[in-house]
Amino acid sequence: MKAGVLALQGAYGLHLDALDRLRIPGKEVRKAGDLDDIELLIIPGGESTTISMLLDRSGLFEAIDERISAGMPVFGTCAGAILLCSRVRDGRPDQRSFGAIDITVRRNGYGGQLQSFEADLDIDGVKGPPYHGIFIRAPVVEQVAPGVEVLASVRGDPVVCRQGPVMITTFHPELTDDDRLHQLFLRQTDDPGRSLATA
Ligand code: GLN
Repeated sequence: MKAGVLALQGAYGLHLDALDRLRIPGKEVRKAGDLDDIELLIIPGGESTTISMLLDRSGLFEAIDERISAGMPVFGTCAGAILLCSRVRDGRPDQRSFGAIDITVRRNGYGGQLQSFEADLDIDGVKGPPYHGIFIRAPVVEQVAPGVEVLASVRGDPVVCRQGPVMITTFHPELTDDDRLHQLFLRQTDDPGRSLATA
């Protein structure tokens, strides 16, 4: 299994480090041809408006969209969650999203840099001690359609969601050495339809 990490802008290097620790071959994705030999994709945190613009310019938007429609598992973190969702509030009018997970998010919904925060999370499907989530200018998930699983919440807001082969976190799992969320994503890619209750 080879995993791609979208490497146009943002925190992609640390996702590649996490894959390395898990002994999954990882690859930077910068142009459409880079998708050819990958089985799954991680879209990192960063700035969703910039990543959206670069996706357009590189021709990657359509190429990734096609792969997502064909069922490729995708994991989006923070800005990556904004890029994967169905509806963005407070986005730039020209920013695009893949509509791969049926949630509505509000960009910078907790406020700016000064309202960044950390929280210990209990996440369905993640065993052991709470997971330390680092939220940096994070989006708030404001609506979740039926069929989307909410795996963890903070202050009543969903922060880890999954729909079929698509998983998002509104925080940055690559900023800690705790690889349990990457593991959860990789495990689910084996059988995206599997219920977490039996995972
Ligand atoms: N606020 C950023 C955006 O709109 C996301 C922040 C992040 O990825 N840490 O894309």
